[in-house]
Amino acid sequence: MRTIVAGNWKMNTDRLSAEALVSAVVQHAGGIVPEVEVIIAPPFPFLAMAVAKCEGSRIIVAAQNCHQAEKGAYTGEVSATMLKSLGVTACIVGHSERRQYFGESDAVIGEKAAALLAIGLTPIFCCGENQEERTSGRHFHVVTEQMKGALGRFSNAELERIVIAYEPVWAIGTGLTASKEQAQEMHAHIRALLHTHGASVAERVPILYGGSCNPTNAESLFAQLDVNGGLIGGASLVAEQFLELVRIAGKKQ
Ligand code: PEP
Repeated sequence: MRTIVAGNWKMNTDRLSAEALVSAVVQHAGGIVPEVEVIIAPPFPFLAMAVAKCEGSRIIVAAQNCHQAEKGAYTGEVSATMLKSLGVTACIVGHSERRQYFGESDAVIGEKAAALLAIGLTPIFCCGENQEERTSGRHFHVVTEQMKGALGRFSNAELERIVIAYEPVWAIGTGLTASKEQAQEMHAHIRALLHTHGASVAERVPILYGGSCNPTNAESLFAQLDVNGGLIGGASLVAEQFLELVRIAGKKQ
């Protein structure tokens, strides 16, 4: 199974600090456990720069969002085709901040994933329950519905090209982290859902954990059987922390 550490920069950095961050990651990632796939997702304006700087390195450049349509009158939006033309090869879809602040439904998220898959890009599909859903014991149901609603349309061959990130909303940017038991049981649940599409889907789709993951708590999370690395927000903005997370993920190999 692949192990992946992906950094979601969100709406952070500016031209100079983005350049400095990409350079630091590229410069130091080379010597770290080559088996771990390293992905960075800078904001749209810095993607071309990041692709250029990452050329010839192990770093994969992803976008944080895309529009589901191929092109057209959607002022301010960015299509999967545009991303591909820049050399971007993956894209986060369904992040909880997109769901919460931009009203993205599972159906729209599924359309975005379909647009990416249609042109050979990798969707990094995020799912996860909020605090109230966990407290009321509905977290497994919520994640099941998110998966069905967004990914239900795909063939097994398509599903095998998706990366999933389980990100409990109550843990994102809050400093609260799922315990290793909470993470493992939800990842096992997601794996079981994938298994209903066949063993090869379950065996091939990496499931990343996201939510206040940092070098202090990552070791026990990444060590869990069904945790195949992490989607990292805050800690991905500090090169040393992000690279340390890559090192920790390497212990899984
Ligand atoms: C994220 O937004 O994907 C994330 C995991 O953020 P943080 O690590 O800051 O909680």
